[in-house]
Amino acid sequence: MAICSAFCAATAHAAASQSATDPYSAATAKLDAKTDGLLPVYLDAKASRVLIALKPTGRAGELGEFLYQVYLRSGMGSTPIGLDRSQPADTQLIAFHRAGNMVYAELENTAFRADGGTAAEKSAVHDSFPASTIWSTPAMAEGPGGAVLIDLSSFLVRDAFGVGDVLVKRKQGPFKLDSKLSYPDVTGAQIFAENLEFEAHETFTSDEPAASELSDILPSPHAATVIVHHSLIKLPDPGYVPRRADPRVGSLYGTVITDYSAPLTAPVVYRLANRFRLEKTDPSAARSEVKKPIVFYVDSAAPEPVRTALMEGARWWSDAFEAAGFLHAFRVDVLPPGASPLDARYNVINWVHRQTRGWSYGSSIIDPRTGEIVKGAVLLGSLRIRQDRMIFESLVGAAKTGSGAQDDPIRISLARIRQLAVHETGHALGLEHNFAGSTYDDRASVMDYPGPRIKIVNGELDFTDAYKVGVGSWDRFTIHWLYGQFPPESTASDLEALVRDGYAHGLRFVSDPDARPPGSSQPYGAMWDDGTDAVVELAHVLEVRGIALRRFGPANLPDGAPLSDLRRVIVPLYLFHRYEVDAVSKWVGGDNFAYAVKGDGIPIPAVVAAGEQRRALTALLHTLDPEVLDLQDALLSQLSAGQFSTPDKQTGIEVFGAPTSAPFDLGDRDAATRTPPFDLQLAASAAVDNTLSDLLEVSRLNRVAQQGAFDSRQLSLPELLTQTLNSVFFPDKEGGSPHAAALRSGVEGRLLARLAAVTEEPTLSVAAAVDVRAALADLSIRLAAVKKGDKEEVATAHFYAERISGDKLKDFAKTYLTAYPVAPTGPPIGGEYEDDWFSDAAR
Ligand SMILES: [Zn+2]
Repeated sequence: MAICSAFCAATAHAAASQSATDPYSAATAKLDAKTDGLLPVYLDAKASRVLIALKPTGRAGELGEFLYQVYLRSGMGSTPIGLDRSQPADTQLIAFHRAGNMVYAELENTAFRADGGTAAEKSAVHDSFPASTIWSTPAMAEGPGGAVLIDLSSFLVRDAFGVGDVLVKRKQGPFKLDSKLSYPDVTGAQIFAENLEFEAHETFTSDEPAASELSDILPSPHAATVIVHHSLIKLPDPGYVPRRADPRVGSLYGTVITDYSAPLTAPVVYRLANRFRLEKTDPSAARSEVKKPIVFYVDSAAPEPVRTALMEGARWWSDAFEAAGFLHAFRVDVLPPGASPLDARYNVINWVHRQTRGWSYGSSIIDPRTGEIVKGAVLLGSLRIRQDRMIFESLVGAAKTGSGAQDDPIRISLARIRQLAVHETGHALGLEHNFAGSTYDDRASVMDYPGPRIKIVNGELDFTDAYKVGVGSWDRFTIHWLYGQFPPESTASDLEALVRDGYAHGLRFVSDPDARPPGSSQPYGAMWDDGTDAVVELAHVLEVRGIALRRFGPANLPDGAPLSDLRRVIVPLYLFHRYEVDAVSKWVGGDNFAYAVKGDGIPIPAVVAAGEQRRALTALLHTLDPEVLDLQDALLSQLSAGQFSTPDKQTGIEVFGAPTSAPFDLGDRDAATRTPPFDLQLAASAAVDNTLSDLLEVSRLNRVAQQGAFDSRQLSLPELLTQTLNSVFFPDKEGGSPHAAALRSGVEGRLLARLAAVTEEPTLSVAAAVDVRAALADLSIRLAAVKKGDKEEVATAHFYAERISGDKLKDFAKTYLTAYPVAPTGPPIGGEYEDDWFSDAAR
């Protein structure tokens, strides 16, 4: 072993006692020693250094193994960039090794293993896959018990979170960590028996920052400084029993393991459910107190009345734990003064600010070896509740705000944020989305995205039941399955019985991959929808929207607000039906399937009945009716008010006509000032595109073509296309609204452009392509033959007839589909994150 001679000399004399002159004592003598924590820590405020003493484990070269968690303590304050205050990175298993006079930090590879194998089998798997050595430092000195003193400072001041990569990926410019402008925060260190918490100020600089989101936020566009937090956490005690995930139960995607010691009859790859360790004090009792309750703490930075609402919502989980036999097992409190939200000992619901509204998320710090959750980390975006208030003011008027009545926008928004707290805390408890939750059992799951249930009573909107209070049947089921304590010998069969019993009682589960994509086919998998029958609900929300739109005007703005704000407030109202449109579209070409397991008795998949598909198609086509799209002249005038007031980026990205809603190009804040007069065609296009992008999605068209080919009674693609084109180009009724003709020609253009674009899609099946081209060719002939009627209408018919014939189709799609701005930022803000109700945002 090659060690420097001074160090050898020191260690030779270190065994009996440390003299004041030995290197360890000399190195630590004048430092602030913290020796009662997980490891001895020495803080050097003068030289801005953090030293720790690693302890040998007894195995050659090993100096300890820990859970390692990196967070951003401070964020970039930006929704599209996505580097948030309190955001955690993935949890790692870290090991420190000594070789010669160097100490190395290595992230262990826990995904591939041989848990039940011999030492030789384990070793072979270990040697077959790489670890990641991420840092090294010289050993400074050897101390009591062979402890190895190292300077951790450069470990703390690495780009451990990957901030630089994110900024480049999000097109903010070539930012790199500048070590001269970065330093460990010695005063920020916290030392506890089971965890060490360290922080570093890290500055990322760029000579060529992009003119972008970040440059708008930064005081200097060349330098972005954040605080990165590191937790070294003692490995959890033995005794936790991992639970394998079950596809029928909404536990998180979980920890994926490849276990080469699995018997030849068993799968090699499986998922571990993620859950807290929760143990009854009396395991034999059906209902028992617990050894250690799960306690979540709400960030004290959340102001009232939000804070109380967050606590009330999150607390609903205690009912699910009680029902699963755990008494007083789940609590919610306010984070104690002085406690860091990133301290590994606290499960925290963080209140996070960004320049514009964005997603919230619930995540966990998870032992990657077992799936045990050691800390819950929920992040809630603070602007969402303000967005909700605005939406409810668009429905009922701003005069109701603060009234305390059932239709008080503040009261409804607080009801909504209780849902947000319980939902995100649900993720942190190990639960996945169930987007079928709104379709049975009166809102069966808080793990769905809840649309408000607005009743119409005597022609007025009623919010008495806008959001459910408490968890639902699915939530009680998943908590029971995930946390339920059963006798070891019967756990597997008890869990299976629980699942079968649940599904026999009508449980339904549809998660993200089958709900988010516009072309997904599961008829129950939709977000922000409500009720058991999407077609009925679509008609209902259109009625709600109609009531609110008919009286929409300045009364929907708070006193003193610029009149131009109407252009922002009307967006969620004008598109109020968008989520029920999504829900209804799933029926067309729909296929009702479950995440079944062989032999469990869950019904096999079934195509949505022909009658239901036709009902859905008719309902969707109704949303293209000019009467649905129109606004009164008086309102159009009001919507055209100009703006010269406080620039608010949120407004700039959320009006019809903002340049784009592309995920990472949020337009500019002048958009709202640039667009008067209000363009009704633009707004109508956004609504129409929402319907058409769902209905004419390629995989949906392929499925409809196939279902029709396999079953002559089923809705066929020619039938879908004919009905759609007829309803738009040759409607049964004429007129109906003052701007009907103009709106109709706009809808015609959007429909043709989308169909033209579809024919260029490489994934469109041949059968579907033949049907689409035949329908367009037929329409071209019919339009060319139009001779009678309004001059303008005849000209429009001939215009379209010419442009959809032959080779011109391609150019038509390019010009008329891509040139138009799409719906204002919303679904999705970032595409991969948590949605919020205004939009289709994200994860
Ligand atoms: Zn969620």
